[in-house]
Amino acid sequence: MDNIKIVIVEDEAIVAMDLEQRLIGMGFHVVEIFKNGNDLLEHLSTLSVDLLLMDINLKSDMDGIELYKLVKEQYNIPAIFSTAYSDPSTLARVKALDPYGYIVKPYNDQELFRTIDIGLYKFKLTSELKEREEILQCIADSANDCIMMLDENADVIFWNQVSEAHFGLSSNDIIGKNWMDILYTDSEDSSSVDVNKHIPKIDKNATFDILAKNLDGQGMPMRMSVMPAEIKGLRRTICVMKDMSGQLKKEAELKRTKAKAEISDTAKQIFLSNISHELRTPLNGIIGMTELLSETQLSSEQSQYVNVLQKSSSMLLDTINDILDLTKLETGKLELEYKELSVKSIVMKIVEQYAYESRNKDITVNYEIDDFFPDKFIGDEFRIQQILSNIVDNAVKFTEKGHVTIKVEAQNIRYSYNEPLATVCITVADSGIGIYQKDLETIFDSFSQVDGSMTRGYEGAGIGLNLVKRLISIMNGHVNVESVPGKGSEFQVIFDLVISTEVKKRDAAIVTDSSTIVGSSNKVVQPESFEDLFVLVAEDNVVGQQVISHILNHKNIKFHLVENGARAIKALESRAYDIIFMDIEMPEMDGIEAALQIRESSVDRFNPLVPIVALTGHSTEADKERIIAAGMDGILIKPVRIEDVYNIISSTLFERDTVSVLQENTVDAFIPEMFIGEEDLYYQLVQVFVVDAKERVKSIVEAFGMNDWITIEKESHSLKGSASYVEAVKVTEEAVELNNMMKKNEYEYTDLAIQNLKNHVNDFCKKIENHLVEIKKQ
Ligand code: ADP
Repeated sequence: MDNIKIVIVEDEAIVAMDLEQRLIGMGFHVVEIFKNGNDLLEHLSTLSVDLLLMDINLKSDMDGIELYKLVKEQYNIPAIFSTAYSDPSTLARVKALDPYGYIVKPYNDQELFRTIDIGLYKFKLTSELKEREEILQCIADSANDCIMMLDENADVIFWNQVSEAHFGLSSNDIIGKNWMDILYTDSEDSSSVDVNKHIPKIDKNATFDILAKNLDGQGMPMRMSVMPAEIKGLRRTICVMKDMSGQLKKEAELKRTKAKAEISDTAKQIFLSNISHELRTPLNGIIGMTELLSETQLSSEQSQYVNVLQKSSSMLLDTINDILDLTKLETGKLELEYKELSVKSIVMKIVEQYAYESRNKDITVNYEIDDFFPDKFIGDEFRIQQILSNIVDNAVKFTEKGHVTIKVEAQNIRYSYNEPLATVCITVADSGIGIYQKDLETIFDSFSQVDGSMTRGYEGAGIGLNLVKRLISIMNGHVNVESVPGKGSEFQVIFDLVISTEVKKRDAAIVTDSSTIVGSSNKVVQPESFEDLFVLVAEDNVVGQQVISHILNHKNIKFHLVENGARAIKALESRAYDIIFMDIEMPEMDGIEAALQIRESSVDRFNPLVPIVALTGHSTEADKERIIAAGMDGILIKPVRIEDVYNIISSTLFERDTVSVLQENTVDAFIPEMFIGEEDLYYQLVQVFVVDAKERVKSIVEAFGMNDWITIEKESHSLKGSASYVEAVKVTEEAVELNNMMKKNEYEYTDLAIQNLKNHVNDFCKKIENHLVEIKKQ
């Protein structure tokens, strides 16, 4: 107790001394004794005091009670009063001062000590409580929100500073009053009334949106969080109110901006669809009229112009469609259409299209499909085709030589939510110009093209890959790319597809006659007319492909083109064909071998009795025998005439004749007989032939320099095929001669044969070129 410093205020010197002695005896430290209040007030600021022991009845100007009132105004020092009189009125005055104790004279040591001890303890507790209260007050005042506490009658018992500032109401204005009377607006908003009804009953935290009024009577939207509390067993409600005016304003602003954006989006959509309609209508006119124009008699120059017109207008249409799709994707308005589809058919269609479109380039477009790849899926056929077309289009565009290969695999076949699912992985690899690493990051952005000389000169709007990325992403898939500049690129699209569970029975075929098979997946219905037909053409020669395509197109006969026997068999596995035109000499697998395999095939693979017509440049008896022995139904000797093709289809399919053999033509005129009336087709073909033949002769000469007999054999074979189509008789003869020499490994007169071939090719080309110049003049 020696560190407790006590000041005595006592006007009786003896009493003061007695008290001092007692206190010292108890171990307290008596700092000073003052006889009156003025002395104390004068010196108190210079002293360090823990407790005042004050006589109530001081004889001087003020008594102890008045003195302590003044002390309390400035100092936080506890006081214990002593008095010789304990009359009720004095005690009442003492109590009003909230003293820490009082003691009645004469002093008793024990009582004195206990009173001081309890007084100091009470002071300590009160100080701590006060500190805690100040902390809480500080927190309440520093909060951003208005805080009020209500009693069980919804009268306000606490009101923080923020509330004061916010509502312009001091604590005095509101404490003790019902919050509704002060804050409730008489607007139509009824939420405050509801809250008031609820407040006494709320047993857990709740939030209400109310319209409270400020001092000026203006309504303020407030979000009020209400929490029940119990203080000293009494029900209290804590209300935290947040002014929502700012936020509501922001929300309204946001709504307005969104609505504006939506309106402008809709306007954009309407504008785009209008403009695209406006663009597409005349474009369709151009495309349609160009098509019709192409069907009329045109000079070769005009044909070329029409060709360019057709290509350009269809490219423009594609670009317009792409832009439309992009905007639909951007506004989330593009929806997928789920139907049964065959990925295999999509890929084959694309391969066919691009094999044809790239015929003037030295590239092969082909595909590889996993043996176990499921046949049917559920998905958006058009969008999958769009994705692949864009990638393959680029691959063909950026590849001058080599290959474009589409590989299709199914990975991770599994059940998800009771549906069979496969991850389809389609890789498009090319041997083109490739893409630099730095450009790989941007090629999927819209309107991005690899900058620099590498791609300059290639057409395109830079939309395709962006469209691919967006389309594949709405299909929940992704696209990857790897590339080595100068070597080629590999694009890979990966997406999940549901495997169609519709049962497609591969029943055993029921053979009814030689050309009609029903019941298998390769169901063949006897065609009624040419337009019902679906023809497969296996021909490796580009000129041959063009001739047969033209002839079939002329009668609106649908067809697929493949470049060898193996591909023909693969094609048969994917769909039914009514008839096959099969070139006899083709690389990889020739027509005889393919026909043999088809005839020996089992019925559940495809229709093994599909009619096959051989296309051949040979007409020897031995050849015919080989063809018939392979089970073929007809022979067409090249060069084929339009009528021959229709006749053989009719006789094979509609009349079901026995094997038909159509005879070779002998034509001397400049325009071969078969092209009479089709002169423009002939001019188109010979132009293709001229380029092709010159290339092949060049390649033969180079190969001869390296004793590369295989290449000479291959090139002379191709040359004899295309020469026979355009009826370049001498060239055909020389090519056959050279080809036979190579087949028989007779190399002695190769140089002579090559020279002859070269001369005849040059003669023929010159003749053609002169003729074309003549026509142009007319
Ligand atoms: P574009 O219409 O120009 O082809 P894309 O978005 O389809 O637009 O392609 C963007 C760019 O990516 C192309 O311009 C080209 O530079 C590059 N690119 C795409 N595919 C290939 C590819 N197979 N080989 C080389 N470059 C490619």
